[in-house]
Formats: sequence, C-alpha cells, structure tokens
Amino acid sequence: MSASDRPPYHPETRLVHAGTLRSPFGETSESLFLTQGFVYDSAEECERRFASAAPGFLYSRFSNPTVAMFEERMAAFEGAQAARATATGMAAVTAALQGQVRAGDHIVAAKALFGACRWVVEDFLPRFGVASTLVNGLDLDAWQQAVRPNTKVFFLESPTNPTLDVIDIAAVAKIARAADARLVVDNVFATPLWQSPLALGADCVVYSATKHIDGQGRCLGGIILASEAFIAEHIHILLRQTGPSMSPFNAWVLLKGLESLHLRVRRQTETAAIIAEALAGHPKIVRLIYPGRSDHPQAAIVAKQMRGGSTLVAFEVAGGKTATFRFLDALRLVRITNNLGDAKSLVTHPATTTHQRLTAEQRAELGITDGLVRFSAGLEHPDDLVNDLLTALKAV
Ligand SMILES: *Cc1c(COP(=O)(O)O)cnc(C)c1O
Repeated sequence: MSASDRPPYHPETRLVHAGTLRSPFGETSESLFLTQGFVYDSAEECERRFASAAPGFLYSRFSNPTVAMFEERMAAFEGAQAARATATGMAAVTAALQGQVRAGDHIVAAKALFGACRWVVEDFLPRFGVASTLVNGLDLDAWQQAVRPNTKVFFLESPTNPTLDVIDIAAVAKIARAADARLVVDNVFATPLWQSPLALGADCVVYSATKHIDGQGRCLGGIILASEAFIAEHIHILLRQTGPSMSPFNAWVLLKGLESLHLRVRRQTETAAIIAEALAGHPKIVRLIYPGRSDHPQAAIVAKQMRGGSTLVAFEVAGGKTATFRFLDALRLVRITNNLGDAKSLVTHPATTTHQRLTAEQRAELGITDGLVRFSAGLEHPDDLVNDLLTALKAV
C-alpha cells in the first residue's frame, strides 16, 4: 500500500490492522511466512518480477510477506512513507548512517549515544574515510559550529541514554537543513507513541524493535523509516545486497507486539512517573531525571516535542558504586540487566555496563556517575515496584 492510500485511522487502530496481508485462507491473525523464497507460475512471470514490472516477492533477503506486514504497520503508525526492517537495532542504525555517506564525507552526532551507536560513528565509519564530530547535543551552537562543507548527516537520540536529556529535534533539523545535511533520529527511548521525529523535521527515524516494540524480551529487530525517496536513494540497495534482513519469525513476533504497544507504553509511562514521584526527594537519591516532571532540565522542550513522558527514570544513589551495588543487589522484584522497554521492570548500572567502554572522563562529561541507575518500568503493579525500590534503598 502506498502511504497516500492509508485509511485515516487513529494510531491505536493502525497498530492492530495496518499492513495486514491475508492469504487465501482468510486467517484472522497475521501469517508467518517461513520461506526463504518464492516460486513462479512461468518463466515470463519470474522475469517480470525480477525486472520490477510485476508485483510480488522474490527472495526473503529482499522482502517477505510477514516482514512486509511489519514494515507497513510501522510506517503507518509512524506516519512515514516507507520502512525497511533489519535484524537488529544496530543493523538499522549502521545502514541508516552508512547508506548516506562515502569516503570524504562528515557526520555530526550528539555525544550522548547508545554505546554501540557511538562506536559506529566514532570508530567504525572513520575506517572508511568518513570523519565524525561529536557534540553536546543540547548545545545548538555546537551543532552549527561542527558543520563542514562535506557534512552529510546529523545523528542524535532523544531522550538520551542513560541520562534522559531531551534534545530540541526541530531546532537541530533546521540547522541540518540549512547545512544541506540530513537528520537521523534514534527514537528508541521516546517510542513511536510519544514522539514523531519526521513531523519535527528529521529525515529518517530508526528503532531497535528489541525494546518497546517487542516489549516482552523475546527477539531482536530494527527498523528504518523515511520518505520513499530517502529509502530508494540511501537504504534499499544497501540492505538487499549486504543482507542484514529481519527473520520472518521475528517480524511475526514484533507484529503481535505492535498490537499492544500503546497499552504497554502508556502503562509503563504512568508507572515510571509514579516511581519518579516516590523517589524524588528521597534522602538516599541525590539526583532524579524524569522527562515529564517540571524539574526536568529541558522541561520546555519535552512539552514542545513529546506527547508523553518516558518509560524510563534515571536516578543517582548517594554513596557511589559501593552503595549503588548494595541497592541493586537488594532488589527482589526489579531485575538487573541491560535491556529496557520490557514487561519486566529492569535496572541498569550504565557506568559498569553500557558505558564501561568510555573513559572516566567521557562518562563524567555525560553525567554518568558511579551512582547513576537507569530504571525501565515494566507492567507490574506500581505499588509492588515502589515497595521493592524503597526497601532496597534501606540497604544503602
Ligand atoms: C538497544 C538500542 C540500540 C541497539 O539495538 P539492538 O536491537 O540491540 O541492536 C540502539 N539504540 C538505542 C537507543 C538502543 O536502546
């Protein structure tokens, strides 16, 4: 279906119905097409499909009906013309960036990035002659000053991991446009429910579907969303020929995840706000960051560009690493891990896990102290979570 043919349903309705392709059996639920390829009624039909003169599928590295359903449902929800699914979130980020550049080009990115994204920008792309500059994403002058004649791409995530800073996407998009560069936004932390970067002026949005889109810890996935022209020019051939394709099985799991995305993310956001309220001002918490609270450092930008708060809360436990580990080890219900957006409430200690690779100085610059904890709200009853967190804080 082309973007202009989509019925004008509400987002929740699109999450349940958009993109459904029914087989001749008329199944209610989406079918799982576990097939590597397809057969043709004639050599002529096969020739036409390969020449793109007839519609239809060719090979599951290129496209697959179950994966196509996931892509169309995501595109309809995001309000994007086109989407391409990938095996993981990192495959989506890498293709979205690499597809736009060649040796001699330059990328500007915010410093506060998911660890692997930062590695792609800072260490990997320079191997191929693509220079990069990392800036403080909150500082609009820094984006402006980093622009060079060969700057092709701006890249950021907002809210950032793990300190939940909120970058003014519309303002950065404007600087990118004036510089003839394209803005890619990693929208994982905001989720497609609460923030629409394309509507704010971004050219491309990427997700790790591993997080809220699956939301139940079952499988990995990623997706790139943009205009038809952007996908055709920068993404389509790269994905086909290099093959970071999504498995049809994962696409099927993620389709079922999308049906309940709005219920889960709404509930997780409400729970995160309750947790933030319960921990704010606690004598053993020295700092608490929650987008949606009036004391968030970029509260005005949150109000301007997000439709909801966050399913995540960041807070700093008094007493450094020893005290923080004592707190983490005393949790009974909330589990220690590095994932987020799951049905189970999770905590992460970024300094020793996701951001371990950075130097102490780089961590300090990003506000990642030894006491910083990232909490991801699950679907449990909020009272049980508040009790678990407050009881564990007594161990500090
Ligand atoms: C998890 C994550 C990724 C990477 O996704 P994978 O599915 O693990 O490859 C990228 N960006 C952000 C913000 C993430 O949270």
